[in-house]
Amino acid sequence: MAAESNGKSTKIPEIKFTKLFINGNFVDSVSGKTFETIDPRTEQVIARIAEGDKEDIDIAVKAARAAFDHGPWPRLPACERGRIMMKFADLIEENVEELAALDTIDAGKLFAFGKALEIPSAVSTLRYYAGAADKVHGNTLKMSREFQAYTLREPIGVAGIIIPWNFPSIMFFYKVSPALAAGCTMIVKPAEQTPLSALYFAHLAKLAGIPDGVLNVVTGFGPTAGAAISSHMDIDKVDFTGSTEVGRLVMQAAALSNLKSVSLELGGKSPLLIFDDADVDTAADLALFGGFYNKGEICVASSRIFVQEGIHDKIVEKLSEKAKNWVIGDPFDPSTRHGPQVDQNQFKKILGYIEHGKREGAHLLTGGKTHGEKGYYIEPTIFTNVEDHMMIAKDEIFGPVLSVMKFSTIEEAITRANATRYGLAAGIVTKDLNVANTVSRSIRAGVIWINCYTAFSPDCPYGGYKMSGFGRELGMEAMDKYLQVKAVVTPLVNSPW
Ligand code: NAD
Repeated sequence: MAAESNGKSTKIPEIKFTKLFINGNFVDSVSGKTFETIDPRTEQVIARIAEGDKEDIDIAVKAARAAFDHGPWPRLPACERGRIMMKFADLIEENVEELAALDTIDAGKLFAFGKALEIPSAVSTLRYYAGAADKVHGNTLKMSREFQAYTLREPIGVAGIIIPWNFPSIMFFYKVSPALAAGCTMIVKPAEQTPLSALYFAHLAKLAGIPDGVLNVVTGFGPTAGAAISSHMDIDKVDFTGSTEVGRLVMQAAALSNLKSVSLELGGKSPLLIFDDADVDTAADLALFGGFYNKGEICVASSRIFVQEGIHDKIVEKLSEKAKNWVIGDPFDPSTRHGPQVDQNQFKKILGYIEHGKREGAHLLTGGKTHGEKGYYIEPTIFTNVEDHMMIAKDEIFGPVLSVMKFSTIEEAITRANATRYGLAAGIVTKDLNVANTVSRSIRAGVIWINCYTAFSPDCPYGGYKMSGFGRELGMEAMDKYLQVKAVVTPLVNSPW
């Protein structure tokens, strides 16, 4: 099968891995059940994937437990773990086209972006933590005249990693990389919509020399396989990225089982504040990129655009003009900027919000309709005259829908930007350093972008305030999620100090 793109054809990859990866082997699920993964471009079944459930999670946990308690991985010199992770990264790089294509057919992601940005970002994240593996240090502590201590930072143990469908490769490595570097073993449950690249990564991990049992991938559904992770008595940590609603369930299950450590990266409704002195072109580009990148299926989407009254009309005009550049079509076509939503659920949910926005009295500036006969395509959509109480201004839509709102003073902008249960990200567009500094310190969110948006790098942490979760992704901060601190205390005899 091949997808046509500007006369050239992009090979649709053969699906090589469809089974669970447990203890270094691809295996069927205990029940023998499988589920379909669907291509959102065509609504056709790509492949049937093994459906893991509680029994499969139990087997994977046993393998991960043995690999942690008795295997070499946590006991290797940290630089040796780093060396194997570097090899893993090289193998991903060698297969970049195939991996990007898997995410395109599974999630509707732009192939060109996958190849140039997203798979390379997964690779650089893995390399960053490969380099960090041997830079995990404890402290020496002068306790008193009688005692001194040092601290060890030890791997937390067996980690359960539950990831969403919007960035199947990036999310995998945001969590797996620090977990591997710390010396943990793990069970990863990819989202049921996008299992393909995770299984391919499992195969490459084995080729790279990651010992059996260290990295297990169990595909399946949330309420079954996912819930079996969060409620498992022998998993030491659960690291979850997904919706706030499911995050709450994960935390509850952790509390009711073995009180495992929890970190949650959840939803957002992030504000982008455009001040009167902003460059109109730059501001409109940032708003559109922040809102429509990955068809708006991005947790940090700038879905609330607050524009100061002096520049408001110019920005609205520019948004309407520039939105036309977001060419909608097959994500394999290099001229496409906007592919299909991930699945029918998302498609329907987003269209429901668009109808709601119209009914609530917001003005539909652009978009609002579906595109084509097949596939889950929705036009990039902008509403203006949006009021803060409207549902489109409050709920995370997780689709290509921007709400534009007007403000007059800096104080008002801060108050309204903060009036949300979420606190994941925010953007500020201004030339005034004082405004940028004041606003960035006043907004309660884990990352603030000044005159830029969605700028990520492995060394720069991000994560939630409020109901966007807790714990940090990326940076040395993410290592903390996978480490325990142990204090070792010794007596001091006859010390004069
Ligand atoms: P989701 O919460 O429905 O699913 C996420 C994962 O959790 C999937 O693997 C799913 O199978 C699993 N899951 C579902 N029910 C479960 C349960 N009861 N117990 C354990 N696991 C369960 O979210 P989604 O629809 O896949 O992703 C969209 C959401 O993810 C959005 O809210 C978005 O903001 C959020 N997200 C956040 C970030 C971030 O870094 N903060 C990044 C990407 C996505």
